[in-house]
Amino acid sequence: MNTQELDKKYVLPTYARADVEFVSGNNATLTDANGKKYIDFTSGIGVCSVGHANESLNAAISEQISNITHISNLYHIAPQARAAQKIVEASGYDMQCFFGNSGAEANEGALKIARKWGGIDSNSKDGEIKYKVITLKQSFHGRTITTVKATGQESMHNYFGPFPDGFVYADNMNHVESLLDDHTCAVMIELVQGEGGVQPQDKKEVQALAKLLKDKGVLLIVDEVQTGVYRTGEFLASNLYEIEPDIITLAKGLGGGVPIGVVMTSLKDVMGAGDHGSTFGGNYLSSSAACAVIDILSDYKKSGDLEINTLLFNKAIEKVYKKYTNLFTEKVGIGMMCGLRAKDADTLAAIINSARENGVMVLKAGRNTLRFLPPLTITKEEMDEGFKSLDNALSSL
Ligand SMILES: *Cc1c(COP(=O)(O)O)cnc(C)c1O
Repeated sequence: MNTQELDKKYVLPTYARADVEFVSGNNATLTDANGKKYIDFTSGIGVCSVGHANESLNAAISEQISNITHISNLYHIAPQARAAQKIVEASGYDMQCFFGNSGAEANEGALKIARKWGGIDSNSKDGEIKYKVITLKQSFHGRTITTVKATGQESMHNYFGPFPDGFVYADNMNHVESLLDDHTCAVMIELVQGEGGVQPQDKKEVQALAKLLKDKGVLLIVDEVQTGVYRTGEFLASNLYEIEPDIITLAKGLGGGVPIGVVMTSLKDVMGAGDHGSTFGGNYLSSSAACAVIDILSDYKKSGDLEINTLLFNKAIEKVYKKYTNLFTEKVGIGMMCGLRAKDADTLAAIINSARENGVMVLKAGRNTLRFLPPLTITKEEMDEGFKSLDNALSSL
């Protein structure tokens, strides 16, 4: 049986997969099973931040696994401790980290910290436990039972219930304040909504919300699973927005393709031994990958090349936007997290298919947003080729 037949017979049908099978990659260039080349503007949904088959990352991983891969969190793990140091120092915040394996798991950790914090007497008002978490209607926070309920999109709440209690959805940032009450322990937001449509929040509104929450004694959780690790130009989007969240989650771009999730918090005294854990979280493999990715990207940022590349990429998107006013209504996003709002959902589907046929991979976000999450290390030549293919695809529609 070929891959497609095996998949159909043995894998649960939870994905509507495109009909293509990649067998190798090099930075932002992919090769499929027929030898056809593609430019990758998706980086595995923001995961392959340092590109495919990155030599430094692969060398770090190979060296690590030739010694030891896993021993559990019952013992000290050197690369995990080092990864935590790198993450905290790059963030500029006085925080500590917990390691899991995915974005949803990082958010679960964030919610557990916030709920435990809300149950501590001195944080409650008149003996009322704080447990409610406010999220936004267009948010996306994961696929576990709890994070699916934390996700504000109604369509995600079909089946799977009963869900954990205590999630409240705000229409937008300005609607959050009216939902706060004595039971609210946290507000969780994405600074640039990813799955919701590559929609950045307004900086002034975010800063006003952060201040309001500090005044009210409510925690701010920022879900940086997609925006984190230089995707928006700074190590964290929180740095770009110049706020100091209480809890931040990371995942996608952190391991360069090796599964890892992190929840980091300034609330160092809330969780104690036994309150949380993960068998795989932050093992030698994933945390040595994270160390390498942070080293590669922090050098890349310092050299100025990240900024140059980001400008080039955005200029190219701007050009597409101006040329195809018949297809797009708005350019959205920040840094290397970009989008073009398509006229409608059918147009978007046609664009994505035609792009693939023409040799460039792009993503969908929300109902009608064409999303670009290229490897941060994409070269100018790869960009040129990718946008040429995209232009071919769009002009054929
Ligand atoms: C992808 C994503 C998640 C979920 O991450 P998984 O690794 O798929 O569990 C959560 N939050 C945001 C903002 C995401 O983009």
